[in-house]
Amino acid sequence: MSEVRVRSEIPSPASEERRSGEVLSLEEIHQLNEVFEGKPAEALLEWALERFHPRIALASSFGAEDVVLIDMLWRIQPQVRVFTLDTWRLPTETYDVIDRIRERYGIAVEIYTPDPAEVAEMVRAHGYNLMYRSIELRKLCCHVRKVKPLERALVGLDAWITGLRREQAVTRAHVAKIERDRAHRDCVKLNPLADWSWEQVWAYIRQHDVPYNVLHDRGYPSIGCAPCTRAIQPGEDPRAGRWWWEQDAAPRECGLHVAEWARVGVVLPSEEGVRTSET
Ligand code: SF4
Repeated sequence: MSEVRVRSEIPSPASEERRSGEVLSLEEIHQLNEVFEGKPAEALLEWALERFHPRIALASSFGAEDVVLIDMLWRIQPQVRVFTLDTWRLPTETYDVIDRIRERYGIAVEIYTPDPAEVAEMVRAHGYNLMYRSIELRKLCCHVRKVKPLERALVGLDAWITGLRREQAVTRAHVAKIERDRAHRDCVKLNPLADWSWEQVWAYIRQHDVPYNVLHDRGYPSIGCAPCTRAIQPGEDPRAGRWWWEQDAAPRECGLHVAEWARVGVVLPSEEGVRTSET
């Protein structure tokens, strides 16, 4: 795909059509999804960095998809911003890969942690391992340790980038490459690997010798906090190792990305091409 051709397809800004405070209008998002669906992830990242840097950052948990994006972004813009949510319950292997990424790329990873007072209050009321006692308490822990720090991380950003892929889970099957994130001031949420397979992710990591979390070699396709992540067996759903004790009682999500497609204006893939949906 020629970069020149991609650029020629990108709609020119139509700021007068945007609502006050909106980064992109729904119509612009619709058009951009039509341009970038089926295009290489790098094409979307190049456009996004040119348009939004430094008011754009990658939200990284340093899983396989995220290290691919870090490598791609760094090749385009070495000063790219990367932030992570340190819940204080991450596996040692995750801290290891963060350090290796910092050394390899020279990126100053921005660290967002929970409010110590909120954590202390939660633990005092419900204990350290409250997540095993009920879905509500697990969600409370995710809210305090992940969702609220994410809200702080997104302050001042016009756009954020994630490693969401459609084949990761049924809750992500309709992820669009470009979304409007109504939960966070209508900022833009970019998912450049939405149409990638697990095999493509690993082909990229091996081709470019990208540092990755060694838990992936031990049967962990998806890696979150240590108390809430286990290895999966061959044939199990990739998300089966997250909050495994909840069985099928709740979506295996932490509240950062829950049904984003269902509550923001997104473009859904369809047989006719793509269409915009706002619910
Ligand atoms: Fe708490 Fe587990 Fe959620 Fe981490 S994944 S914030 S430990 S409930």
